[in-house]
Amino acid sequence: MSASERRFPRSLIEFQSRFATESACAQYLFERRWPQGFVCPGCGGGRAWLLKSKAFTYECADCDRQTSVTAGTIMHASKLPLTIWFWAAFLMATHSNGISALQLQNQLGLGSYRTAWMLCAKLRRAMVNPEREPLSGLVEADETIIPFRTKNDPVVMPAGRSGIGKMLVAGAVEIDSGKPRRARLKVIEGFGKHELHAFVLGAVALQTRLVTDDWPSYRNIPAVRHNAITLGPMAAHIALPWIHRLFSNLKRWGLGVYHGLRKTNLQHYLDEFVFRFNRRRTRHAAFDTLLGIGARTAPAPYPVLIRKAA
Ligand SMILES: [Zn+2]
Repeated sequence: MSASERRFPRSLIEFQSRFATESACAQYLFERRWPQGFVCPGCGGGRAWLLKSKAFTYECADCDRQTSVTAGTIMHASKLPLTIWFWAAFLMATHSNGISALQLQNQLGLGSYRTAWMLCAKLRRAMVNPEREPLSGLVEADETIIPFRTKNDPVVMPAGRSGIGKMLVAGAVEIDSGKPRRARLKVIEGFGKHELHAFVLGAVALQTRLVTDDWPSYRNIPAVRHNAITLGPMAAHIALPWIHRLFSNLKRWGLGVYHGLRKTNLQHYLDEFVFRFNRRRTRHAAFDTLLGIGARTAPAPYPVLIRKAA
């Protein structure tokens, strides 16, 4: 466990007392963005004044550029208080099953469902780190069919590999010392070679050891070492245990939290599920990522790096 992980609030009471005010939230953002002190994103200068006219905004003493502590995060230009953003990110990051817009509206006392819905949608969009590393080492991959519901229809239970009227999902799980690490899930149009090759190549690094069943679409993926298991009498959940467990958890989650997933926005729900799975042991990192800190913060400009080295 890292030092920042240990500093992360362990309970609602601790979180509430720590992030009770706008300035406490802004202070946290400042420390996470500029651990060595303010750095101007324009010129790399380190001297700045805190403006009185704009909330939590610094003006560079060298180039006059104004930088808000929320610039570059999902809170940028939001009218909602930082405390609301922090609470929403905390609830989303720590709830093992996620939280619906309606629950968020009730728990945070938000004036409208629309505000809660927008908050959820923005946080959910922050759930894919554009710079995430591909899966590597040993990876199990498989594909599945998810039943979906429409407004009035019950969930349709599908059968077989044909994709008519069903949602098709490809998945991969990275295995390290017999334990699952990170996962990927993607909506696909079919179980053909084109779709599954595209999924695997987008999800794993070069020279990954890929394990699948003997479905022919996985054959001859370039730069991947492939081991196809002929299942025969051996059940798939024994040959490919982790990807099967991921799929069954996904289906249970979809039924439990959303009463069956819908076709629209399915990829966003898959992203939310994967986000939570990949960060199940690092809630602190999940919280920071959701607020848009860290992953999207640009590295220090070159002059600053030189100055620190000197
Ligand atoms: Zn500057």
